[in-house]
Amino acid sequence: MIDIRRIRARNAKPIEQGAVVYWMQRDQRVQDNWALVYAQEEALKTGKVLYVVFNLVPTFGTTTLRHYDFMFKGLKEVEQELATLLIPFILLHGEPDVTIPSFVTEHGIGHVITDFNPLHFTDLWREKVANCLDIRLSEVDAHNVVPCWIASPKEEFAAYTFRPKIHKHLGEFLTQFPKVQKQTCSQIGALNSIDWAKVQASIKTDTSAVPISWIVGGGKAGHKNLKDFCDQRLEQYATKRNDPNENFLSHLSPYLHFGQVSAQRIALTIKNADVPKDSKDTYLEELIVRRELADNYCFYNANYDRVAGAHAWAQKSITEHVSDARDYIYTKEEFEGAVTHDDLWNAAQLQMVKEGKMHGFMRMYWAKKILEWTPDVQTAIDTALYLNDTYELDGTDPNGVVGVMWSICGVHDRAWTNRPVFGKIRYMNYNGCKRKFDVKAYVEKYSNVVARSLF
Ligand code: FAD
Repeated sequence: MIDIRRIRARNAKPIEQGAVVYWMQRDQRVQDNWALVYAQEEALKTGKVLYVVFNLVPTFGTTTLRHYDFMFKGLKEVEQELATLLIPFILLHGEPDVTIPSFVTEHGIGHVITDFNPLHFTDLWREKVANCLDIRLSEVDAHNVVPCWIASPKEEFAAYTFRPKIHKHLGEFLTQFPKVQKQTCSQIGALNSIDWAKVQASIKTDTSAVPISWIVGGGKAGHKNLKDFCDQRLEQYATKRNDPNENFLSHLSPYLHFGQVSAQRIALTIKNADVPKDSKDTYLEELIVRRELADNYCFYNANYDRVAGAHAWAQKSITEHVSDARDYIYTKEEFEGAVTHDDLWNAAQLQMVKEGKMHGFMRMYWAKKILEWTPDVQTAIDTALYLNDTYELDGTDPNGVVGVMWSICGVHDRAWTNRPVFGKIRYMNYNGCKRKFDVKAYVEKYSNVVARSLF
């Protein structure tokens, strides 16, 4: 059974004796999904049908063809898996405050259940839907191991303040999942299949960020990737994860972002892996503490992607350095075209354009240089988020917001030695990278990649 602390009511309307719908958004999977577990529990109570819907909005931020390609691979699997469980899966098209209420009326729904995402534009969808409905909209945190609102009641200052709060709750929440069962309700009706080719053709999106082939979307590929990581890379994760020339990362972030694999499932698998404890602990720190800290920041900070969202020390320092002369200034287009004077920065940008996933270490250097080479800090944040969310398969995610805000505004970091342009924000430079890894080898790897042509 679901722990009721995972659930929040989004409106004060009643739960009626009708069918139940799970409006799937962030957690695009069938098993290991607390929102679907709860929806099935609710449907079993009334003996009415359980539906799952996914709503495609006409435009979705900087989402590109590469994101849709990855997501649709996963959603096709969701449809197939739900069909084996006799649970209807319906794709809706339009604004959710129109499509969800009309689905509710058409199908005699008594309770709408959805998953949780702290990003403002998706939260606004839920708020609007909650207001339009005459029945309850419940939201389940199916993404975090410890539900965001239980982990902490406020914005946390840094990982060191958040870590003990998470660890205090892990014993209660890092548990096995109940299985979503085959639906037995007699009123299910025929299950219609979705014409995915038609859906894909109908998408109007930026086609310049092309689909990626080295990593395949969908839960099946995600779980295979998890197994390969545990068998081949986890053991050396603690020592080699910061070398961009090595391949010791898990590459699970796109699967986590689209909810195709559950973080809780990954954590349970890692805990049981047959590798030294320090590798497991290092990985679980990233997967649980750092990742869930990002949700905490976006959930509680109304200005999460603005300078105003930074700590007071950082805002003061940024203001003091607002007029500092920059040695280089690049436009968004120049960054996007990877034509800066810095071959390491250009290589990182090209890795992201080509592979849809920049190495984690390079993401810090990349964002900090955008701060150094833009006229002001807010432009740096906007440019970094635009590029990150357009090209990274795991973009448009609280982790991206926090990664950018950590690099550019010192979020969750401390004050460092004062210096031009950066003020007290932590600095990174080319020579520091040369001391850590073979910069020449990394640059050479991407020397033949062509950036998006913008000129
Ligand atoms: P692994 O090292 O194998 O980590 C496993 C998981 O732990 C990741 O999938 C992620 O969920 C979590 N994790 C790892 N590092 C971090 C971190 N620093 N903060 C929070 N969680 C972490 N991550 C995204 O998911 N989406 C983004 O858009 C994104 N943009 C970033 C932008 C910048 C400027 C920076 C500095 C970081 C960004 N990150 C982002 C965080 C991190 O770099 C990626 O999560 C990681 O590189 C993903 O690759 P992986 O799954 O192979 O990582």
